[in-house]
Amino acid sequence: MELDSLSSLEKREILFTDIKNAIEVAWINNAKLPNNDAIIRSVLTASDIDSAEARLRRFAPFIKMIFPETVEAKGIIESPIIEVPELRKALNREKIGANLAGRLYMKMDSELPIGGSVKARGGVYELLKYTEGLAVDNGVLDSYEDDYCKLGSPSARAFFATRKIHIGSTGNLGLSVGLVGKAIGYETIVHMSADAAEWKKDILCSKGVIIKVYDGDYGDVVSKAKAEAMVDANGHFVDDEDSKDMFLGYAVAGKRLKKQLRQQGIAVDKEHPLFVYLPCGVGSTPGGITFGLRQFLGDHVHCIFVEPTQAPCMLLGMVTGLYNNITVQDVGLSGKTHADGLAVGRPSSVIGDFIKPFLSGIITIKDKRLFDYLRLLWESERIFIEPSSCAAIHGPVCWSHSPEMRDYLEDNNLLRYMENATHIIWATGGGLVPENIRQELLAKKV
Ligand SMILES: *Cc1c(COP(=O)(O)O)cnc(C)c1O
Repeated sequence: MELDSLSSLEKREILFTDIKNAIEVAWINNAKLPNNDAIIRSVLTASDIDSAEARLRRFAPFIKMIFPETVEAKGIIESPIIEVPELRKALNREKIGANLAGRLYMKMDSELPIGGSVKARGGVYELLKYTEGLAVDNGVLDSYEDDYCKLGSPSARAFFATRKIHIGSTGNLGLSVGLVGKAIGYETIVHMSADAAEWKKDILCSKGVIIKVYDGDYGDVVSKAKAEAMVDANGHFVDDEDSKDMFLGYAVAGKRLKKQLRQQGIAVDKEHPLFVYLPCGVGSTPGGITFGLRQFLGDHVHCIFVEPTQAPCMLLGMVTGLYNNITVQDVGLSGKTHADGLAVGRPSSVIGDFIKPFLSGIITIKDKRLFDYLRLLWESERIFIEPSSCAAIHGPVCWSHSPEMRDYLEDNNLLRYMENATHIIWATGGGLVPENIRQELLAKKV
């Protein structure tokens, strides 16, 4: 017993040193609980996700109206799940040596309408919820049972034009919320850091969204944007560091994925474990999706976050128990990464503590690998996703590369079922990256 606890302390020490030195690590979360135990302590439940999903359904006729690309899906913003057998083969080849048993899939949120990234879930949901409340309070809608297409009437649009939406974003959140804000008719202001991609600014500008650019990193931009929105009486700030609504918007993915898996005949149970790999920035996206997956698929889904070695903010917060009270810069890391959606120094204030009982673990990845995976995916499947997204491709590889991950399988009696396992790489973005930038990224060496 004493020896055991000593060695776990030593392990922690080694892990912490490796994190500080930007070495790729794997951390297994010993605080994970069975879903029934975890949910008792949780302030949110499956019924919160149900009501978020119902809200998205109420809005669907209106979404269909303002975003013609959603007509086929009847105004529901959703992406397909596809099997990627060629990627699996490529990962299993000697060079990478994943030795992955089971089947490999990708959840194509990179193809989501309204921005081409996962932000079209949480970001759009947050703004729709705000819009609904505002519309009912101001008589634009009579009630929550009203015809939501009324939101597109000239008088409704005139009303929304008197209101302002502020978003602080390094990119994809600004893109999704900017597009939907403007489409509803709000005056929409996206506050971005100087290093945000030009093409994202171009798309937003072309739609009439106002862009404000600031020096500093993501955290700086958010605090400046927030300060500006605060003094604006008609303004609403879409906050991805501290939004329960955004979180629930992401969580709806769990409910919908359950249905998609059933449609594809993919079982999730003791003999058929499901592993899901999610890129993590502030944690809102992977946290929300993990919560949704655990609520609707139960204990046989294992969620793993992936962070860049230079910006492992969620990992650092969890390992130290300091959550959002520590930054990666505090331990000497730069916070800089080519995975721009994950270039975050401080995790969300609401995710870490909340998601811990639902989470299996966190792994980190060096930037160099992101581009290796980007090319590998393109060469094997002719699928393009952005570098941030590529972090998730490290997930299926970790089982053969990391003794800690191997231990997780052993400790959870999973080894014997790996032949039947399903692995899902959550492709979080890249759908709108222009062709010239794609070519640049495909050729990039770091
Ligand atoms: C935002 C984003 C993430 C991470 O989401 P967080 O909520 O910041 O953790 C991952 N991938 C892409 C492409 C993103 O845009």
